[in-house]
Amino acid sequence: MKDKVNILGVWVDMVNIPRAVDKIMQFFNDDGLHKVYTPNSEIIMAAYKDDNFRDILNDAELLTADGIGVVYASKILGKPITERAAGYDILCEILERIKGTSRSVFLFGGKPGVAETAEEKLKERYPGIVIAGTRNGYFKPEEEEDIVSQINSSGAELLLVCLGAPKQELWINKYKDKLNVKVAMGVGGSLDVFAGTALRAPDFYCKHGLEWFYRLMKQPSRAGRMLALPKFGFTVLFKGRKYKQED
Ligand code: UDP
Repeated sequence: MKDKVNILGVWVDMVNIPRAVDKIMQFFNDDGLHKVYTPNSEIIMAAYKDDNFRDILNDAELLTADGIGVVYASKILGKPITERAAGYDILCEILERIKGTSRSVFLFGGKPGVAETAEEKLKERYPGIVIAGTRNGYFKPEEEEDIVSQINSSGAELLLVCLGAPKQELWINKYKDKLNVKVAMGVGGSLDVFAGTALRAPDFYCKHGLEWFYRLMKQPSRAGRMLALPKFGFTVLFKGRKYKQED
């Protein structure tokens, strides 16, 4: 697979943001569901320890490198990804391209009210964008079939699943044969960012690969989760080269 880099068993597409956007725009023209996930180092570490989750990620039609750790890992492994392709940035560009067209979006995830606020904000920011429906991300297992029906009857072509990882990837995978959308993206806290209930790191931090540091300052409770980053670095250094880069 010459356009992908195998990072601890996860085949990440070597794409920058414009290339990822082009691929997704093409998915809208193709038949069937296309799954798009944006793994960071924490997600790849989770997949390294869980074969089932790894297979779910590898079943995606597009996997982009969300986070500087994944970009560095690709360089260590000799198949460099040129830049971080975060889900939020890709999504903003997609919304820019589909505003004013009939391609509509379903917003699924976040606390009650977040998706509705995100809808209002998106309509201001992308005039002409069609939001086909919204649903919060807190539900009982027995409600899931109804959520799938709500999404399908909305006629949306783009489904944003914002349940956090790995919940969102598992959910998309579970319903991949029932969903009628063209593109399902797992994009974590993006609805919170659109709604204004969470702040994105300022550009300075993103550009210098320091978004993790900004998030740590804002939410010190994430410190435990962030230990995944150095662990990931060491694992790639010591185990990464054992993974074949060609199929
Ligand atoms: N979330 C949800 N349902 C859940 C758990 C989380 O809708 O059962 C939402 C949560 O409200 C937040 C988003 O998932 O809007 C992302 O959560 P988190 O910040 O933990 O994920 P990350 O983006 O860091 O992976």
